Amino acid sequence: MITPRRTANAGFNLQSSGADLLDENGQWKWPQAWYDLYPVLIGLSLELPSSQLQDQTVWKDLEGNHRHFSSLEVWHSIRTRDIPISWANMVWFSQCIPRHSFQLWLVIKNKLRTQDQLKVWEAGSETNLRLMCCPLCQHDRDSRDHLFFSCAFASQVWTNVKAMVDMASVTESWASISAWMDQHSNSKRLDQVVCKLVLAAATYFIWQERNNRLFSRLECSVIQVTEKIKNTVRLRLMDFKLQGHVDYNRVVKKWQIPVRALNEDPG
Ligand SMILES: [Zn+2]
Repeated sequence: MITPRRTANAGFNLQSSGADLLDENGQWKWPQAWYDLYPVLIGLSLELPSSQLQDQTVWKDLEGNHRHFSSLEVWHSIRTRDIPISWANMVWFSQCIPRHSFQLWLVIKNKLRTQDQLKVWEAGSETNLRLMCCPLCQHDRDSRDHLFFSCAFASQVWTNVKAMVDMASVTESWASISAWMDQHSNSKRLDQVVCKLVLAAATYFIWQERNNRLFSRLECSVIQVTEKIKNTVRLRLMDFKLQGHVDYNRVVKKWQIPVRALNEDPG
């Protein structure tokens, strides 16, 4: 970082122009010490400034392209980049329901506070540990793979909502769901976008039901949870521009969407 004091000591100021940085021979006139302090100056290309042009600040991106300076460009340049993950478009896509997407992201990362992850309980009371069981089926402690959707309760919900979309080959095991996501997360086909909505909504409402039973003693039936999922997805579909998709007729009929309710696609 070139500090203001160092800049001033070198004879430059905020009003200095590009031309002020060149000597009469058209060479950079950086102070000699700066080449040691900022080796990047050694390889700096020399583009003779035109007296006809105003100086402007540009940002050079990682590919060396000149961009308009913006916080977005800076962020792209300095952020840590990882290998793209296969399920990214499964979670975040233009028609997604954000709170469901966040939930699905936690499920995929196995970051939910399921009973199998509560080590603090294990270290505490053996009695608590023995009493702990899945609030949906009362069988053993719950976990990510149990809730989505091996659990006897959750698997019934999953079977019900799965019948609304083309996911017959996907079982209630997390491995099967994970394999489906790997294969279809990038798809923009309408029927597969609906699959993504259904899967995310199923994880959201099953987790909500689990928590309601655990902390509020409120209880819904398989049918009620199924209806919550179907109604939420149906409402979202009403915001889509469905016309023109090859699956239009099938989706409208399957989800019983009144044609007059179809608006323009927001995204
Ligand atoms: Zn269960």
